Amino acid sequence: MSAGRYAPSPTGSLHLGNLRTALVAWLAARATDRAFLLRIEGLDRVRSGAEADQRADLAAVGLDWDAEPVRQSERTALYDAAVAALRAAHGTDAVYECFCSRKDIVEATSAPHPRPDDGAPASGGTVPLRPPGFYPGTCRGLTEAERAERRRVRPAALRIDVAKVAGLPAGETPRATAVDVLHGEVTGLVDDLVLRRNDGAYAYNLAVVVDDLAQGVDQVVRGDDLLDSAPRQRWLAEALCAARGEPTPAVEYLHVPLVLNAEGRRLAKRDGAVTLEDLAAQDPAWT
Ligand code: GLU
Repeated sequence: MSAGRYAPSPTGSLHLGNLRTALVAWLAARATDRAFLLRIEGLDRVRSGAEADQRADLAAVGLDWDAEPVRQSERTALYDAAVAALRAAHGTDAVYECFCSRKDIVEATSAPHPRPDDGAPASGGTVPLRPPGFYPGTCRGLTEAERAERRRVRPAALRIDVAKVAGLPAGETPRATAVDVLHGEVTGLVDDLVLRRNDGAYAYNLAVVVDDLAQGVDQVVRGDDLLDSAPRQRWLAEALCAARGEPTPAVEYLHVPLVLNAEGRRLAKRDGAVTLEDLAAQDPAWT
């Protein structure tokens, strides 16, 4: 089944920007004879009651969906199976424990140092830095004894060794390309991304890829704040399909602009009535 989807995080009522994205997602799916699915992405930051509020908001603007919405919070077994498939295909170390804090990563990536695989000229001293937060591979290749020691201090996240999975020399950085209706080809470097966080919750990038594959989603409409994530999600989808011995389905991306305020910042509560609830409170006749 070919499908489009809207995948809100249940953090609160949908604001105008979310509703606009949902409307574009619904229209894109309906206009191309795809099913339209709603998926509740509640791996973290869940606000109690938000799912019901969001469903009511979507229904209030006339959107409908074709199956009972799935909740990421109930799909852990699927994410476990995806990690197991990657390990079965590439070895246990293809998914490795990482003990770095966000601060460790920022510090490791902000000190200029030569990176032969960045593609910069060998002469001329320092070469371009990786984007902030790009994982430098600190915990890749720790010995079992080193891991045991670090586990006593901090629980581990799980990262994928992208070079190993891509069959590249150790530490090399694959590139991936996603094709977007509005933005064209979007190419990005793929680092050793987190598959499971150190609080035990599966990471957004893994869950979204597993779910889109499992649900037959071949049209992804969402805010353009996630445009940068598309290449690495594409890469992960390919890696997962290859590990399972399946072809990777093509995906049409459509990253739509966020709704901004007069200062060009993402529309927020302080900008006035931004949810249907706010509008109803201002003007009861609206409902
Ligand atoms: N759950 C994400 C959000 O609400 C959207 C993820 C996606 O559409 O891939 O921002």
